[in-house]
Amino acid sequence: MLRSEFVSLGLSTTILRMLMVKGYVTPTPVQEQSIPQLLAGVDVLGIAQTGTGKTAAFALPILQQLAETSAHGSRKAPIALAIAPTRELAIQIHGDFRDYGAGLGFRQTVIVGGVSQRGQVTSLARGADIVIATPGRLLDLFLQRHIRLDRIKYFVVDEADRMLDMGFIDDVRKIVRELPRQRQSMLFSATMPPDVSRLANEILHKPKRVEATPAATTVETLSQSVYFVKS
Ligand code: AMP
Repeated sequence: MLRSEFVSLGLSTTILRMLMVKGYVTPTPVQEQSIPQLLAGVDVLGIAQTGTGKTAAFALPILQQLAETSAHGSRKAPIALAIAPTRELAIQIHGDFRDYGAGLGFRQTVIVGGVSQRGQVTSLARGADIVIATPGRLLDLFLQRHIRLDRIKYFVVDEADRMLDMGFIDDVRKIVRELPRQRQSMLFSATMPPDVSRLANEILHKPKRVEATPAATTVETLSQSVYFVKS
């Protein structure tokens, strides 16, 4: 019998079994709030930082919806796309999707800069269902027609505030312009400055706002002082 606290979130038996094997018993607050909304097809705006379990919060509902609809990408045309600001984060998300989706039979590819594009082009040509990418290399491959974005049904922007800090905002907008209007989108960010809020408004449709941590709190054990010095 499955006695995981994840049961009430609407996850399928296959996913619940995998979570048990991984030893996840209790959903984190961001998972508890996001998963039912995402499974119901609602867009999500998540204010959550790394360590809150946000990757599973978006990966599990995407995997379950793909499995339920038996949706598969075709040659060069994936169904789910997650973009992240750094190659390290993209690789980490890719690893999580692979773990959470083990046994579901989806093909996944990670597309990042700083390495040869050859392997990435080959796996896209073979057909990938889920693509995790950094914006620059993704656009590069798109412009070379190695990837199509017109069949994306699930779109994730992770660490949107870092995306902005690192100057990827124009690339993100270019990517969004190529996506179908009919899709489910989710955007996660540790902070929500006005520029991120604007980007979220452009990407998300009537999103459910989910907050895992209060924005910008200072721990009580930390004391802060200001010293004025001569220039
Ligand atoms: P993330 O914030 O997505 O980077 O996740 C942080 C870490 O927490 C990762 O190592 C996950 O494997 C782990 N994790 C995510 N959700 C849970 C959960 N519900 N129970 C236990 N560990 C979790």
